Amino acid sequence: MRASVVQRQFRCGTPGCRCTKGERHQDVIATRSLNGKTQTVRIRNGRETMAREWAENWRTLQSIVAELTAIELEILRLPKVTSQSLPQKKDNEKADLFVYITNSICLCLVII
Ligand SMILES: [Zn+2]
Repeated sequence: MRASVVQRQFRCGTPGCRCTKGERHQDVIATRSLNGKTQTVRIRNGRETMAREWAENWRTLQSIVAELTAIELEILRLPKVTSQSLPQKKDNEKADLFVYITNSICLCLVII
């Protein structure tokens, strides 16, 4: 997920609560910016590890996309690469993106 998982301290607003004396409540939230607004979701007990893993998955995906972009731009710069030698994407297989990415990286390695 494209979100940050952070610990938050807050006052609940209940008169006389311990948080009014400086001992604030704590929870863990997932937060993201969406269309200029901040979306915040409180993470229930026992789900923090999962949420942190999902946030990490997004960062990993971003680095993979950045790497793939760099590789594809390098391929576009190369002279005399025919369309037959480029990896072909089949329309009827949805899982082909992974294969396509792998083939692009392999082709790049062969060319280098
Ligand atoms: Zn309170």
